[in-house]
Amino acid sequence: MNMHVRPADPKKLIKGATADWEIVIGMEIHAQVTSEAKLFSGASTEFGRPPNSNVSLVDAAMPGMLPVINEECVRQAVRTGLGLKAEIHPRSVFDRKNYFYPDLPQGYQISQYKSPIVGEGEVVLDMPDGQIKVGIERLHLEQDAGKSIHDQDPRNSFVDLNRSGVALMEIVSKPDLRSSDEARAFVTKLRTILRYLGTCDGDMEKGNLRADVNVSVRKPGEPFGTRCEIKNVNSIRFIGQAIEYEARRQIGIIEDGGTIDQETRLFDPGKGETRSMRSKEEAHDYRYFPDPDLLPLDLPEGLIEELEAALPELPDEKKARFQTQYGLSAYDADVLVAEKASADFYETVAKGRDGKIVANWVINELFGRLNKEGHSIDDSPFSAAQLGSLIDLIKDGTISGKIAKDVFEIVWTEGGDPKEIVETRGLKQVTDTGAIEKAVDEIIATNPEKAEQAKGKPGMLGWFVGQVMKSTGGKANPQAVSDLLKAKLGID
Ligand code: ADP
Ligand code: MG
Repeated sequence: MNMHVRPADPKKLIKGATADWEIVIGMEIHAQVTSEAKLFSGASTEFGRPPNSNVSLVDAAMPGMLPVINEECVRQAVRTGLGLKAEIHPRSVFDRKNYFYPDLPQGYQISQYKSPIVGEGEVVLDMPDGQIKVGIERLHLEQDAGKSIHDQDPRNSFVDLNRSGVALMEIVSKPDLRSSDEARAFVTKLRTILRYLGTCDGDMEKGNLRADVNVSVRKPGEPFGTRCEIKNVNSIRFIGQAIEYEARRQIGIIEDGGTIDQETRLFDPGKGETRSMRSKEEAHDYRYFPDPDLLPLDLPEGLIEELEAALPELPDEKKARFQTQYGLSAYDADVLVAEKASADFYETVAKGRDGKIVANWVINELFGRLNKEGHSIDDSPFSAAQLGSLIDLIKDGTISGKIAKDVFEIVWTEGGDPKEIVETRGLKQVTDTGAIEKAVDEIIATNPEKAEQAKGKPGMLGWFVGQVMKSTGGKANPQAVSDLLKAKLGID
C-alpha cells in the first residue's frame, strides 16, 4: 500500500542539494452539488443573496429540527460516481463529525465516514508524454459550513449561514499524482467531468470547487514520506504554486537533517508560500458516529441503472469519437472537448463539413479571439451558423482564406451574414482569368529583371504570387495566379 507501482519519471524529479526527489500528491476536492435546495433542508442555495437569507430552521440548528435528505443531491452524487467510473454503494451512512466553530451552529457536520455513497473510481489524464490513471478513493456527501466575516473597523465578527447545510461532494484521490502539472491537470479534468454531468458548476471563484492538496516527498523507490495538507486552495494556478513551494520546503528540511511534521497548512497567494495552520487532526479527534437523526441511505431499487442510462457522453468518450468521426488530432480533440459548450459549437459547424478545416477555424480563429477579448463560447459574438457559412464560402471558392479572415473580422465587430457581406462589399474572389491575367502581366512588365531571374529560380514564384495578390486586394484565386505566373515566367 505504501509503495507505489508507477516508477519515478526522471524528468519530474526535483533536484535537491544531496539527492533527486519525487513529489507525491493526493487531493481532496470539495465540489458544491448543483441543486436548488440544501442537503437536508429546503432552503435555497442561490449565490449572492444577502447574508442569512437562505437559512431554514434546520440550517440554523434550532433545537428539535430534523434533517430530511434531499433526493436530488443523492442523485447528483450517484451520477458523479458513475462519471468517475466508480463503484456506487447501494447503502451508505451519514455520520456526525464533531467540532466547534462559530459558523457551524450544529456543533457537528453531517458527513459520511466509514460508508460513503461512492467507492473507488478513476480519472484519466492526457499528459504530453502519455496517459495517467489517477485513482479515486471515494466520494461522500456532506454539509458545507457557514461563513465567518471579520470586520476591522470597528472590530466585529459576523456569521453568514447562507452556505450552512449546502451539499458538498468530497472527492478524494489516491496519492497518484507526481508533479504540479499533473495535479493541475487532475483538477481541470475533474472539473470538466463535473460540468459535463451538470453535478457541480466548478466555479472556483465562488468557492464552489475547493481543493485540499496533500504533498509529500521521497527519494524514488522509497516508501511515501510524511505529508502536509494544504487547505482550501481556490484556483488551479495556486494549486501548482502551492505544490512547488511545499515540495521544496519539505526537501530543504529533510536535507538539513530534519523531519516533516504532519500538519495542515495554508497557501498565501500574495507571498506564494504555505504556512502552518495547525498540526494535523486525526479522525478520532472528531468523534465520528452515525447520525441518529438519519437512517442509513438505501438507494431505491433501479436508481443506479436509471441514472447510468441517462448519463451524457463524457469528455473521454467525446474526444475518442471526435478523433475517429472527424479525423482530428488528439490535441485538437482535447481542446474542443474541454468544455461541453465548445464541443457542441464545433459539432454544429462540423455537421456536413470538413471536420479538420472546421476545427482549425474554431480553435485558431474563434477561440483565439474569444480568449483575447475575454469572452466565453456562450457569449461568442460569432455564431455557429455564421462560421459555417464563412467556411462554405471558402470551400466553394467564393473567397480565399485570406479574405475569409477579413470577413471574420467584419462579422466579429459588426455582425451579419458572411455571404451577404462578401456580396455587398465586393469581396468575391476573382477567378475570371482575364482579370487575373491583366494583373499578372502588369507585375511582370514592371519587374522585368526579376521575371528574367525567375526562369532559373522557381523559388521566386512566391514573391510574384504575393505581388499579384496585393494588387488585386487579395481577391484573386491564388491557385489561378500561381498557374498563370508559372506559364508566363516559364517555370514548370
Ligand atoms: P485523511 O482522511 O486523514 O485526510 P487519507 O488517507 O484519507 O487521510 O488521505 C487524504 C488524502 O491524502 C488523499 O487524497 C490521499 O491521496 C493523500 N495522501 C495520503 N498519503 C499521502 C502521502 N504520503 N503523500 C501525499 N498525499 C497523500
Ligand atoms: Mg481528509
